[in-house]
Amino acid sequence: MKLLDLNGLESFYGASQALFGVNLDVKQGEVVALMGRNGMGKTTTINSIIGLVRPRTGAITFGGKAIFGMRPHRIARLGLGLVPEGRRCFPNLTVMENLVATARGSEWTFDKVVDLFPRLGERRDQYANTLSGGEQQMLAIGRALMTNPRLLILDEATEGLAPVIRQDIWSAIRKLKAAGQSILVVDKTLSELLPVADRCFVLEKGTTVFQGPPAALTPELQDRYLGV
Ligand code: ATP
Repeated sequence: MKLLDLNGLESFYGASQALFGVNLDVKQGEVVALMGRNGMGKTTTINSIIGLVRPRTGAITFGGKAIFGMRPHRIARLGLGLVPEGRRCFPNLTVMENLVATARGSEWTFDKVVDLFPRLGERRDQYANTLSGGEQQMLAIGRALMTNPRLLILDEATEGLAPVIRQDIWSAIRKLKAAGQSILVVDKTLSELLPVADRCFVLEKGTTVFQGPPAALTPELQDRYLGV
């Protein structure tokens, strides 16, 4: 079953068109990688899904419901949990407070987040602005999970993080996948992203130019669409 389905999505910033026909879907329980070079439209696609950018044409359904043009808070309530680029935790709240602030539903609890990221347990009373980048990313993921999302969206899952911390993030993503969590993920490190993904979508200039399993994304295609 398709949990999320985008068809022919076109979005603008004012008069400037950023998306020219994005097709993308995530099935229940899948990890889908959204890829493309800088400026190709990944963040705009995510912002269009969650309603921060209002798409002009196309269709978006989530859980079988049309969400095109719906307000962000209503879309979020349907079960979309976002880990935004740059993390954006509440700086003057503690780890515990950040997590409790977004809690909704009963499946994810503070203890369960700490099972996934034990470091957050060690830092529970520390203010978010005193955490390392990696810890803030763990907190941002934990905060999104506390909303009990049907779909977790990670924009730049490991950007700017040290290799060892990146491994912690990927390991958590693998655990979530094993538990059946549906995930849409953007990340620049192909060698780490591809092994986790069930399917990939590649954007070029705001259009979907490839979709398929990671094995079908040959070195030649990677070079064409993702090479620098
Ligand atoms: P990156 O990997 O650099 O984050 P991206 O694939 O996420 O890139 P977007 O940020 O979605 O790409 O940008 C898509 C296009 O929209 C780019 O041409 C960009 O310059 C433009 N754009 C993005 N944000 C805005 C904005 N707030 N106002 C105007 N144009 C924007």
